[in-house]
Amino acid sequence: DYALYYAKQNAKSEPVFFSHEHERLIFANSALEQALRHADLEKEMRVEFQPVLDLGCGHTKGLEALARWSCPTLGRIRPDLFIKAAENIGMIGRLTEVLFRKAVNEARHWPGELTLSFNLSATSLTSEAPVMRLLSIADQLGFPTHRLIFEITESAVMNDFESAMEVLNLIRSAGAHVAIDDFGTGFSSLAYVHRLPIDILKIDRSFVRDLHANERSKNVLRSMLSLCENLNIACIVEGVETQEQFDLVCDLGGQLIQGYYYSKPLSSGDAHMVLQIEFDTMNRPPLRTVVNQ
Ligand code: C2E
Ligand code: MG
Ligand code: MG
Ligand code: MG
Repeated sequence: DYALYYAKQNAKSEPVFFSHEHERLIFANSALEQALRHADLEKEMRVEFQPVLDLGCGHTKGLEALARWSCPTLGRIRPDLFIKAAENIGMIGRLTEVLFRKAVNEARHWPGELTLSFNLSATSLTSEAPVMRLLSIADQLGFPTHRLIFEITESAVMNDFESAMEVLNLIRSAGAHVAIDDFGTGFSSLAYVHRLPIDILKIDRSFVRDLHANERSKNVLRSMLSLCENLNIACIVEGVETQEQFDLVCDLGGQLIQGYYYSKPLSSGDAHMVLQIEFDTMNRPPLRTVVNQ
């Protein structure tokens, strides 16, 4: 099932194998990039919102915007794939602005003081301009920066450490917040985390997955939670799917939880409805009891 090619880089060249699967992926990739080039971003892109639960008060703390693309020719494409494609073809700046504008346009109608988390790709950290444009969009739309959280991955930071530091400082000097996403999946996490200007660590869901079966993973999660506490950084545990995982994370001292157990990503309409109901019940005065004497 394998096609065999010889890569002739030098005299003692090694045979290189490309599976048909690999060829198919390369082809699919360029089809994806092609479709994205011609996409009507305003029309085809949507944003869903996944709530984060605050165990301290038992309510939603904020929501993370997650990009969705229904391509008319290719169907639904996973966001990590089309984000990468957008980076490859130099469209990530424009795509990010479209997504951010849509996200903020929803978030400004949410009740209360809920935060909006927005994922930044690696290229958004290579200079200050992309984030400056996002901050001015938030400003135009009247969304307060202190309710904004920008999520970045460790690898995006390590990609260009100096520039990333400048962008992170820019975010925080504007009053917005920084979260490290998928924490623990990159390299040398613990070595640099105390040097980064960050507010929140999001512990990757791989640490939650085998929590029930494994004493060691419990210890790892416990250590990460206490690391955050010692550094005075908030910590969100991602990917909590079951009651069992939820209970374990609570026992270990987790304060902020995100995952299918609390809520899947919601359409903007559903998010608005759920948040309004939660807000109304939270603030409703106690029913007066009628005592007949
Ligand atoms: P992420 O930022 O780490 O987002 C979390 C992903 O995990 C989301 O997948 C979410 O739907 C999924 N998830 C949430 N809770 C659970 C759970 O309990 N179990 C499991 N198995 N999965 C859960 P999604 O929406 O497919 O996004 C994948 C990645 O694509 C995101 O990872 C993020 O890196 C990227 N992405 C999404 N939207 C954007 C965006 O607007 N801009 C950028 N640059 N990247 C984005
Ligand atoms: Mg994220
Ligand atoms: Mg994540
Ligand atoms: Mg992830």
